[in-house]
Amino acid sequence: MVEVRQVASANKAIFAKVNISRGTRIAAETPLITIPPTKSIEEELWEVCNVVEKMTNNESKELEQLPCSSNVADTIRKRGFVENRVWFFYKSRKLKNNDGSVLRGKKMRRIVNKAINLCIIYLVNNVQLGPDGKYGSGVFPLYSQINHSCVPNAYNSWNPTLERLTIHAIHDIKAGEQIFVDYVGNTCRTRKQRAVSLNTTWDITCNCKACTDDALDKLRYRMLVLDQALAAYECGASEEAHLEGIPKLKTTNQALNAAEELVSLLKRQRLCGMELCRT
Ligand SMILES: [Zn+2]
Repeated sequence: MVEVRQVASANKAIFAKVNISRGTRIAAETPLITIPPTKSIEEELWEVCNVVEKMTNNESKELEQLPCSSNVADTIRKRGFVENRVWFFYKSRKLKNNDGSVLRGKKMRRIVNKAINLCIIYLVNNVQLGPDGKYGSGVFPLYSQINHSCVPNAYNSWNPTLERLTIHAIHDIKAGEQIFVDYVGNTCRTRKQRAVSLNTTWDITCNCKACTDDALDKLRYRMLVLDQALAAYECGASEEAHLEGIPKLKTTNQALNAAEELVSLLKRQRLCGMELCRT
């Protein structure tokens, strides 16, 4: 149904090979690696090292080929936490040479450097499995090559029964069109909020219509307000905890009206992902 193509910016992208109608499952991909649920970044990196240590050469080559901006990789490297964690992991392993002596020096450095690189690629490409990473996280080679749009035409979710990441068309896609998903994870965000998260994590400057049209950005702001008001209503947030500029929904009817307005804003922009379902 889809194919990988090289695009002008030397990046790869995924395109529809045939007409795909709304609701079609475009792909159901098995993970290259999975990490169990963890409570901190330290724990997560430890688990990644565990997986990296057991990977075959072919698997690590496949992981190395996944997209990772050199700017983002350099920033992560400079912060030092990945390097610290990987050294800590390998020191605890007490790896040995063939003659039984403890591995150190250049050989050890080479193993650690390779693991640091793979950990960074994991950090850039991993997908949470289930809501809030209930089933952990994973890396998926096909999914990693799908580009971002704030007005996506596809939606990904982890299917715990199939143990695959499924990608569905959220509207009709014509043969030859590029497939896009939303990396940000919530479409009810303003252009500025999306730009920060896209830039820091993936070094992306998005030029989709929602990022270039001021009128659309105003709609996103209204969506953000409604989304936060509904979230506060749902968890029964107290008066003090209430965010400035966000209306407090006091009655069921007010909440229903806000939800209906959000539904219509989402539909108007053809944003038929998880936010529409949840709203
Ligand atoms: Zn955008």
